[in-house]
Amino acid sequence: MTPILDADDLAFRDEVRAFLRERLTPDLVRATRLNTSVFSEHDVCMRWHRALHARGWVAPAWPVEHGGTGWPLVRRWIWETELSRAGAPPLSPMGLRMAGPVIMRFGTAEQRAHYLPRMLSGEDTWCQGYSEPGSGSDLASLSTRAVRDGDHYVVDGTKIWTTHAHHANRMFALVRTGADSARRQDGISFLLIDMASPGITVRPIRSASGDHEVNQVFFDGVRVPVADRVGDEGQGWTVAKYLLEFERGGAIAAARLRAALERLVALAERRGLLEDPDLALAMSAVEVDVDALEATELRVMATMQVGQNPGGLVSSMLKLRWSEIQQSITRLGVRLLGADALAWETGRPMHDGASAAGLDDEARPLVAQYLNARAYTIFGGSSEIQREIVAREVLG
Ligand SMILES: Cc1cc2nc3c(=O)[nH]c(=O)nc-3n(C[C@H](O)[C@H](O)[C@H](O)COP(=O)(O)OP(=O)(O)OC[C@H]3O[C@@H](n4cnc5c(N)ncnc54)[C@H](O)[C@@H]3O)c2cc1C
Repeated sequence: MTPILDADDLAFRDEVRAFLRERLTPDLVRATRLNTSVFSEHDVCMRWHRALHARGWVAPAWPVEHGGTGWPLVRRWIWETELSRAGAPPLSPMGLRMAGPVIMRFGTAEQRAHYLPRMLSGEDTWCQGYSEPGSGSDLASLSTRAVRDGDHYVVDGTKIWTTHAHHANRMFALVRTGADSARRQDGISFLLIDMASPGITVRPIRSASGDHEVNQVFFDGVRVPVADRVGDEGQGWTVAKYLLEFERGGAIAAARLRAALERLVALAERRGLLEDPDLALAMSAVEVDVDALEATELRVMATMQVGQNPGGLVSSMLKLRWSEIQQSITRLGVRLLGADALAWETGRPMHDGASAAGLDDEARPLVAQYLNARAYTIFGGSSEIQREIVAREVLG
């Protein structure tokens, strides 16, 4: 599915292509191809972030008044499609796609003036402190506590599975500020926390794919200014839910999925596997899924275009579909490798060194990508939880 492009759109597409030829260097493309995680390697991501910022294109979905591009729907689609085709690194979503819209919507004028420009420039990088041991799907049971002490909160507790906490200098976190009440969603507040604060410890967790992307974060008497609370005290659940809509539904995933599938088709061709009817059928089925996802994403973008947020139902639907399609693609990748899937690459990040197992750049990351992709249907809310939301919204 392709929107109809007029002469201005085509000129814009050419401008994007020229920019990519100039600024998207081969080493960035190679690092992206060899990346094994949903998130780019931090150094790769930040190099690309800064290049986009210098051009004023780092926040395509933000309004102009906050330093975004203000692009209409069709330009955002062109942008995502061209970047995916060219193999550009995805940017970290935690600031631009998650904390940013929340600060725009619920933040004070001071918070907007301080945080949004630093998010755009890459001076601040963010991590998400929602999940805790025992409080993932059941997020409202969280127990990290923030006790008021003058113009500060004192935070004690722990967050887990915190992606890139070892790179981020800021965290947005849900904490319990109120007394225990019958409705657990009450008494939760949304804080912006400086990761350099005394009392914070970040402990790495190594994933099945061999990557270090998630962590457990401990808070021991961490002082956070009250001025860094977003929204009213106790209003954190409303803020958190708004943010989750952007986490699950604020992206255009189809273009990137299509580019990944096309690379696999090319690999299958090189390996002489395209004549296998079972494989051809499996690839076609994924292609149809990508087409359907793209149609839905364009529909969602049209609602965002007129100033609405994605909405709970549709953002859950999108999260469910893109994560499952991503897993199908990584399954196909392992299938294409055959016996080569037994070769294990230990080097991380992979773009830093040559292949220890003798595989080429296309084959090398596929097994680790497959293992890493097991997490796609867990993070951002598991598939079971997304299905529950969809069922509740549709069936009542
Ligand atoms: C790679 C990765 C990165 C992550 N990054 C972050 C991050 O940056 N910040 C952050 O805050 N969190 C992060 N998470 C945490 C993620 O949001 C949680 O793992 C997720 O919400 C599931 O919670 P849980 O792990 O506690 O599992 P549980 O909630 O214990 O669920 C275990 C299983 O039970 C099922 N289940 C639970 N409740 C129900 C129900 N009511 N109905 C049906 N089935 C149910 C789940 O679907 C799942 O299969 C990340 C997780 C991963 C794997």
